[in-house]
Amino acid sequence: FFLTLEGIEGAGKSTAVAFIANWLEERGYPVEVTREPGGSPLGEALRPIFLNPDLAIAADSELLLLYAARREHLYEKILPALARGRVLLCDRFEDSTYAYQGGGRGVPLARIHALSAWAGIQRQPDLTFWLDISPDLGRQRTLSRHPDRVEREDSAFFHRARAVFAQRWQEEPARIIRIDAELPLDLVHGQIAQCLAEALGC
Ligand code: C5P
Repeated sequence: FFLTLEGIEGAGKSTAVAFIANWLEERGYPVEVTREPGGSPLGEALRPIFLNPDLAIAADSELLLLYAARREHLYEKILPALARGRVLLCDRFEDSTYAYQGGGRGVPLARIHALSAWAGIQRQPDLTFWLDISPDLGRQRTLSRHPDRVEREDSAFFHRARAVFAQRWQEEPARIIRIDAELPLDLVHGQIAQCLAEALGC
């Protein structure tokens, strides 16, 4: 079972990943947690390059790096784990590319789609939780936890990214579950648990 978490900064993805991994393990599911950008040795090596604002990587170059890493991640880690019967829990996957590089940075979505096909990303998640939060509240939450953090992107970037997440959710309602991440944490996690129980039949 291939499960992904998506959302803009401050939505509570990391906390939700830990909650889900624990929830699944308690019920006896073998879980493997991974992330993007990252996941494979190549992806983890690229992550600091990708996140380094001094490099000022052009949007299309960034996209190519992401797909080199994603192909490696999918074929070397995700598909083998799924073949071994694991629940593969990935913090961000392809929806983030559409939201950040497409919505945020303005790469045409059709170009992302074409590159994805070229890179052989034929396996999509079985279920995706989109933790939806307003960019302003997301920023407040991030800054309260990491006061020194320098935001690389402005609020308009995250509004555009959120709009693409919303569009994909509308296009794929069977795969993408929207969770209102502005609600208190116990409600957020309660909704996630309920959806998981339904999806896994447990
Ligand atoms: O999920 P996490 O916050 O750890 O992701 C690290 C950063 O990578 C994000 O804050 C985001 O700015 C960036 N990112 C991106 N494009 C993607 C995925 C992540 O710019 N496709």
